[in-house]
Amino acid sequence: MSGPVGATKTLIIGAGLAGLSCALHGDGDAQILEAGPRPGGKAISETLDGFTFDVTGHWLHLRDPGIEKLVLDLMGEDHFVMIDRISRIWSSGVYTQYPFQANVHGLPPKVVHECLMGAIKAITGRPEAVALEDEPENFADWIRFYFGEGIAEHFMVPYNAKLWGVDATEITSRWCQRFVPRPKLEDIVAGAVGHTAIRMGYNARFRYPRDGGIESLPKALAGAVGAERIHLNQAVVSLDLDARTVTTASGQTVPYGQLVNTMALPKLIDRITSPVPQAVRDARALLRATETVYVNVAIEGPVGQPDHWIYVPELEWPMYRVGVFTNAIPAMAPPGCASLYVELSDRDTPTEALYPRIGEGLVAMGLIESVAQVRAMHTRRIPNAYVIYDFNYHAARQTIHDWLDAQGVQSIGRYGDWNYSSMEDAMIDGRRAAARLQGQQA
Ligand SMILES: Cc1cc2nc3c(=O)[nH]c(=O)nc-3n(C[C@H](O)[C@H](O)[C@H](O)COP(=O)(O)OP(=O)(O)OC[C@H]3O[C@@H](n4cnc5c(N)ncnc54)[C@H](O)[C@@H]3O)c2cc1C
Repeated sequence: MSGPVGATKTLIIGAGLAGLSCALHGDGDAQILEAGPRPGGKAISETLDGFTFDVTGHWLHLRDPGIEKLVLDLMGEDHFVMIDRISRIWSSGVYTQYPFQANVHGLPPKVVHECLMGAIKAITGRPEAVALEDEPENFADWIRFYFGEGIAEHFMVPYNAKLWGVDATEITSRWCQRFVPRPKLEDIVAGAVGHTAIRMGYNARFRYPRDGGIESLPKALAGAVGAERIHLNQAVVSLDLDARTVTTASGQTVPYGQLVNTMALPKLIDRITSPVPQAVRDARALLRATETVYVNVAIEGPVGQPDHWIYVPELEWPMYRVGVFTNAIPAMAPPGCASLYVELSDRDTPTEALYPRIGEGLVAMGLIESVAQVRAMHTRRIPNAYVIYDFNYHAARQTIHDWLDAQGVQSIGRYGDWNYSSMEDAMIDGRRAAARLQGQQA
């Protein structure tokens, strides 16, 4: 809906998964203002010439029983396919299994030797149990501490520099506990000799919609919230926290009782017109994020690898990850064709100039036989895609949230909270915020 918006007891900024979940878990009176033309936020999909693309890979991992029930009740179990992750690393011209640190078999012998010796030295050189506060503080040192020099140099340091766009020494190790699998020495050795069958990592299985791309998820949530409560094309351009009003780009001023925000935290602070303490403005100036630049690729014919996504750590290639939607769901492209996404570490060169190198990479990776199979490439950009967990991050973010809490504003979701989290986390955040609005703990 994009008509006039009246005063509301609860106002939610943003109809991504966090905002939609908050509205759905609330008492039915919240109104949502959404800047875009449709709900979904980062979890939208686009179809071009019969090829469907999400905003890069958006694979759904459901671990929270309540969120799983909500999603399955709304959409039906049959709407999803349960998929066993196939993802590998492509380096030194060969494929190795994910995670790299537990699967170096198949790499050139010199690389395997360096990885193995480095891991042995690192693991035997540190105590078996390490308290969190005794872990190295920067991510580069943390990698070397847990995995050793070889694994650091051949995968983890260059890959993370490509993904984050900053050197791993600038990132604190505190972000990664949940996301980086830490195999034992025996697993690393087994993986070096090709004797591993273990699956590691937080995302070994995932769900994906049978059709419609990941956008079918926010569509279902938005349907349950009701179109009359979601006001589209209504970007909030200013907020007066004292008067409890927000103003939208269309010139509407909306009075509210309680406010939940899901737009990016720095943007929120920038748009507040009532007084903001200098300490909060200073903290806001310290928040950093990496832009993701990616290319949607439409391919004639099938691809030659089975993976859902492939990591590309080597600096000579402009991409750090390539994903294949159609390896999960063939219906994401016309029959016999494939939809791919290519995430770029080179964020500065105009992407059109990189298209030939991307094509060469897809051939070298064995995904396509010839660049003639590339029917189309479309560049997309996500500003603020990855929040950077640098050494200012925790204190700065806390200062801002403490102040917002005192103003009665909940700022939630991956960008409102300013963190690295999943679609499920966004829905959990929404549920928690709704419970707080209703005076419950969650
Ligand atoms: C590259 C990438 C890959 C990812 N892959 C996965 C994955 O495989 N699996 C997974 O579970 N998660 C993945 N995620 C994370 C997932 O996308 C997010 O956790 C989730 O979509 C965040 O939802 P949100 O509602 O918090 O934020 P958003 O989706 O950003 O929603 C915020 C909404 O607020 C609106 N908005 C912004 N400013 C204003 C304004 N001024 N006024 C009104 N509205 C405004 C936006 O238009 C948007 O609709 C990935 C994220 C990225 C960036």
